[in-house]
Amino acid sequence: MKTNRFFSHIALYPLLLSGLVSCEHADTAAPTIVLSSPVNDAVVEAGEVLCIQVTFTDDVALSAYKINIHPNFNGHSHAPARQPERRLPAVVLTPQATGFEITLTSASQNDPLTGRECFRDIDIDIPEDATPGNYHLLVYCTDAAGNEAYIAQDLKILTR
Ligand SMILES: [Zn+2]
Repeated sequence: MKTNRFFSHIALYPLLLSGLVSCEHADTAAPTIVLSSPVNDAVVEAGEVLCIQVTFTDDVALSAYKINIHPNFNGHSHAPARQPERRLPAVVLTPQATGFEITLTSASQNDPLTGRECFRDIDIDIPEDATPGNYHLLVYCTDAAGNEAYIAQDLKILTR
C-alpha cells in the first residue's frame, strides 16, 4: 500500500511540470474571424442597413474588433491577413468621388470581446448620399496578447 502511494506521487510530477510549462507559453496565434453576413460581393443600396454577423474565436482570450468600410474606386486589393497591406497604383475614375467610409471599434461601441468565442450582430446604416461604387468591408480582431487578424471582402453600394 505504501509503495503504491509513493509511485502514484511520482507519476504526478511530470503532469504538474508540464502544466507549469504550458502556462508560460505566450499566445502567438492570431484569432479567427468568420463572417456569416454579408457574403463576399454583397450588394447594398444607399440608405439601407448592412447587417454584419461575425464570430470571433481565439485559443486563449479575445480582446477587440474593428469594422471598416471604405471605397475601392481605384481597384486596390488587400494582402492576406498578417501581411503588410499592398495597394495597387491608384486609377482615378472620378476625381471628385470621395466615397463613404465608416469605422466601428470595440472602444467606440463600448463593446470589448471577452472569452474565447464571441458573436456579434452589428447593423451599419449606409447613408442615402453614399457615392455608389465598389467598396471594401474589413473586419479586424485582436486577442489579449495583441495578435491581430483581419479579413477583407468586396461590397457594392448602389444608388436607390
Ligand atoms: Zn480596400
